Amino acid sequence: MIEETILQILSGKNLQFDEAFELARTADPTELYRAADELRKKLHNNSLDLCSIVNAKSGKCSEDCKFCAQSAHYDVEVVTYDVVDVAQAVQLAKENEQYGVQRFSLVTAGRTVSERHLEEFRTLYKQLSEQTGLLFCASMGLLSREKAMKLKEMGVTRYHCNLETSRSYFPSVCTTHTWDEKVATIKIARDAGLDVCSGGIIGMGESLAQRLELAFELRELDILSIPLNILTPIKDTPFAHMQPLSVGEVLTCVAMFRLINPLAVIRLAGGRNLLGDEQRKCFTAGANGAIVGNYLTTVGNTLSEDIEMFRALGFDLKINQR
Ligand code: SF4
Repeated sequence: MIEETILQILSGKNLQFDEAFELARTADPTELYRAADELRKKLHNNSLDLCSIVNAKSGKCSEDCKFCAQSAHYDVEVVTYDVVDVAQAVQLAKENEQYGVQRFSLVTAGRTVSERHLEEFRTLYKQLSEQTGLLFCASMGLLSREKAMKLKEMGVTRYHCNLETSRSYFPSVCTTHTWDEKVATIKIARDAGLDVCSGGIIGMGESLAQRLELAFELRELDILSIPLNILTPIKDTPFAHMQPLSVGEVLTCVAMFRLINPLAVIRLAGGRNLLGDEQRKCFTAGANGAIVGNYLTTVGNTLSEDIEMFRALGFDLKINQR
């Protein structure tokens, strides 16, 4: 049955929700992961899409996302700074570039980015484009049309706005903004000529069906870069005691995201280190991208460990000599 499904996907037929749900619940897991890996290889060869992020502004945020250390609604100690030091950010970008990272994103905490901060980032993007050959992204909360246009002017090519979870589960994760506001931001970014990256976090108490709903919603929006985070429960946040997903649940999710969004980069992001050595299996179950370096408020693998792992898995990586 899975072989048939893969052939249909390769012929351009989209998987339907009921078929996907059935597969996720009943397919032999080893077969499912192998099929997703085969589909990944057929459509993306052994290329791997690596990107890196820097926390460009860190601090308490007005929103109440239950997974987030930076929300002012919860009493979590976080390092706060106004704007990241330009020289430090450029240095970090250069190190990443040497390891074959293609994209670099400035990420800010908060509902949206202020005009003042946006202007400060103009200098940072300018320095980055003068000193590296990277492509630039931004992840700065909800956007207005004007802000999106400004980012485009600064040389940003891709905007990141995670849906976080399915529309049906979103109110259990955040009440200070809506899922639809995120979709509106995605549309604003696109209208301004920016490419879009959007995914979510799994393991926040959502059901398997809701995980698949997210994958379908991303397909509806034509998202071609999908970061998949695994919840890192943070002490003193409402999700601190969330039961971790099993490795099997994570792998099934990766494989299903590949089957539902065959042409997208399925990008392993925050929380993959929670799986330890088992995270390798995600890259033989359909994933073909990763966020490398440190992730916002949680700690990831080191770049060199990651590169070694990807090479051992057979991915083609170009090391830049700039
Ligand atoms: S996820 Fe973003 S918007 Fe939500 S609380 Fe954290 S920083 Fe604020």
